[in-house]
Amino acid sequence: MDTISLDKKYIANTYARFPVEIVKGKGSLCYDETGKEYIDLATGIAVNTFGFSDEEWKSAVIAQLNAFSHTSNLYFTRPCARLAQILCDRTGMKKVFFSNSGAEANECAIKVARKYSEDKYGFGRHVIITLKNSFHGRTITTLSATGQDVFHTNFLPLTEGFRYATANDIDSVKEQIALGGVCAIMLEVVQGEGGVMPLDKKFLEDVYSICKEQDILLICDEVQTGNGRCGKLYAYQNYEILPDIVSTAKGLAGGLPMGATMLGEKVENTLTISSHGSTFGGNPVCAAGAISVIERIDDKLLQEVNEKSQFIINKLKNAKGVKSVSGLGLMLGIETEKDASEVIKACQDNGVLVIKAKNKVRLLPALNIPISLLEKAIDVLISAL
Ligand SMILES: *Cc1c(COP(=O)(O)O)cnc(C)c1O
Repeated sequence: MDTISLDKKYIANTYARFPVEIVKGKGSLCYDETGKEYIDLATGIAVNTFGFSDEEWKSAVIAQLNAFSHTSNLYFTRPCARLAQILCDRTGMKKVFFSNSGAEANECAIKVARKYSEDKYGFGRHVIITLKNSFHGRTITTLSATGQDVFHTNFLPLTEGFRYATANDIDSVKEQIALGGVCAIMLEVVQGEGGVMPLDKKFLEDVYSICKEQDILLICDEVQTGNGRCGKLYAYQNYEILPDIVSTAKGLAGGLPMGATMLGEKVENTLTISSHGSTFGGNPVCAAGAISVIERIDDKLLQEVNEKSQFIINKLKNAKGVKSVSGLGLMLGIETEKDASEVIKACQDNGVLVIKAKNKVRLLPALNIPISLLEKAIDVLISAL
C-alpha cells in the first residue's frame, strides 16, 4: 500500500492532510514523494525554527545521542539543567518545568496557578480567565482553557474553573474578575490558531497592571509566539510586561518534542516534590536540541527576523487580493479576497507550503530562511492571491 492509503487505513482520522507526502527536507526546502521541491513557509507549525534537519542543530542532537539518550527524572542531567539556566537568564524567570508539548506546558501553568492561590488564600480562588478566540491545547483541561466553542463540542463536561473575556476589551476582563475567585489570566500575546491576532499593547499592559494589583497571576502562552518567532526571544518581551508564568513548546527544541513552563519569582517555589512530573520531560536529546536553538536566537538573528517580517509585510501590503496582514515577526496572517484554502492550494501547486489560521493564510517561515528563497516564495504567494 502507498503511504496515503496506509495512513487512511491505520491512522485515526483527525487530520485533513494535504495530499502531499514529505520525504526529505533541508533548511527551508523540502521534497515530496515525486521529487517535487517546495519552499516551506510553515515549518511544521512553527516547530522547525531553523528549517529541516539543520546541520548545527543536528550535531548538537547527535552529540547527545552518542553520550546517552534518555534517563528518568530520578537523576540529574546536564542538558536539562543548562537549558533551564539559559531560559531563566534570557527571560527573568526563576525556574523551569520541562514537558513534551504545548498542552502539557499549559497544564503545568494551570496547576501552578491553582496551587499558588490555594497555598496563599485557601481553596476556592481557582478560576482562570482566558480570552475568547484563544487556543491553549487539546487535553480536556487545555480545551477548557481554549475560548472557542468549536473545540469543546462533543467533549463535555470539560474541566471547571475557566471563564472567558473578550480580547482587547479591558472592561470584559474586569467584569470577569469582579465575579470573584480568579487566580490567573492566561493569554497568547498573538492569538495564533485564532487567526494571528496580536493583542493591543495597551490591553496587555492594562491586564498586567491589574494582575499585579490584585495578585492575579499573568500566564503568557508562548507555545507558538515564543523562541524568536515574534522578533524577541519571547513575544511578551515586545511589551512592558513581565508574566508570572510563561509556557512554550513548538519551536523550542527545533523539531523535537519539548515543552517548558517558566516560573517567575512569585511562583518559583510553588511546585514541590511530587506535586508534578513527567517521564519524558527534559529528555536530554530534546534539551540538547533546544540549547542549540536558543543559543542561536541572539540579537542579530532577531533583527533579521524583524527585517524579514517587514520585507514580507511591504511586499504584501499593496499586493492584489490582500485585505489585511496581521501578526508579529515571522508569525503573519493574511486576510485574502479569495478563499484561503484556494490560495494555499495554488501555492502548493507552485511549490510553496503555507497553512491556514481561521480564514487567513498563515506564514511561519524558518527564522533563518535565506532572503532569496523568501522572496521567491512571496512572489508565488502573490500570484496565488
Ligand atoms: C500549538 C499550541 C498549543 C498546543 O501545543 P501542542 O504541542 O499541540 O500540545 C497551545 N497553545 C498555543 C498558543 C499553541 O499555538
